[in-house]
Amino acid sequence: MSPAELLTLLVGIPSVSGEEGPLADLVQGLIAAQGFEVKRQGHNLWFSFGKQGGSRLLLNSHLDTVPPCAGWDGDPFTPVWHGPRLQGLGANDAKGCVAAILLAAFELAQQSLAGEVVVALSAEEETGGQGIATILNQLGPLDGALVGEPTGLRICAAQRGLLVLKCTARGQSGHVANAQMLGAENAIHKAARDIGRIAAMDFPTHPLLGSQKAQVTQIQGGLRRNQVPDACEFFIDLRTSPDQDHDALAAAFQGQLESDIAVHSKRYLPKGTDPSHPLVQAALAVAGKAGPVGSATTSDWAFLGDLPAVKAGPGDTFRSHSPNEYLTLPELEAGVAFYTQVVTTFFKLRVPHEG
Ligand SMILES: [Zn+2]
Repeated sequence: MSPAELLTLLVGIPSVSGEEGPLADLVQGLIAAQGFEVKRQGHNLWFSFGKQGGSRLLLNSHLDTVPPCAGWDGDPFTPVWHGPRLQGLGANDAKGCVAAILLAAFELAQQSLAGEVVVALSAEEETGGQGIATILNQLGPLDGALVGEPTGLRICAAQRGLLVLKCTARGQSGHVANAQMLGAENAIHKAARDIGRIAAMDFPTHPLLGSQKAQVTQIQGGLRRNQVPDACEFFIDLRTSPDQDHDALAAAFQGQLESDIAVHSKRYLPKGTDPSHPLVQAALAVAGKAGPVGSATTSDWAFLGDLPAVKAGPGDTFRSHSPNEYLTLPELEAGVAFYTQVVTTFFKLRVPHEG
């Protein structure tokens, strides 16, 4: 099957997170037809091939898409070619990566490899649900992971994490007319002081990810216009870097703010791989890039523990989750060549005396 045919097929089957079943069925059939033994749990698929006993490299991307947003020309679930561009939901994020990984795997399986390749196509990446984290312990020991996301084949060696804190400022309710006499503490005023502190906070600059500010993204407080509010709740969204610990950060916020801080979400961990690691070096060499970049968006890498990884794939992160998402055929073909060559280059670097 040609790259264009495979991508058209994948994009033509809707797979919004949680509803990847029909796409997983199709892909499972395609993999089995190539002679591989496919494992499946829920809507996650994986298979392996190559030389056992050597290095083991994971190739991962996700089958699911976000629901279509507004603004599409035509049906997001119907793939349409406009010249070299295939437009359709998921074409860029991340069915192009899935197609490229599959075609690379089918090609690599014909070669004599110095290590073993594990391909895992996950579900619910966009929602952090029943995805890669639920199958990781069944993939066996791994030496590295190539996470397929649209990076324009830039080599991403650091990825931000996500810490969401729920903050509650507490006060005493009372009639506004009597507030002064009662000394009633206004919870919104307390929250406002904290929000001023949060806006002024600085965080360490990361060499690949740059600097970052904490953002207050939602706020709610007050019941009536004439009542001193006794509670005001707001959320902080902080995109973290690999040198930051989520629990330590939450404690640091609690130490500096008057509001009560509760961790709302901390499971999307920040990730980084030493640029001198053979996997980063192999990916840079194949892509012809001088150095790695950082990525502000999270991915399945967040759930891979301490496994050295790079995130790279065909497409453009700015097309993701946007109307008229597309991937071009040259991008897809470059992705196939990239994954194929990174695998062989990584095994050469990892197993220099093989044979
Ligand atoms: Zn993605």
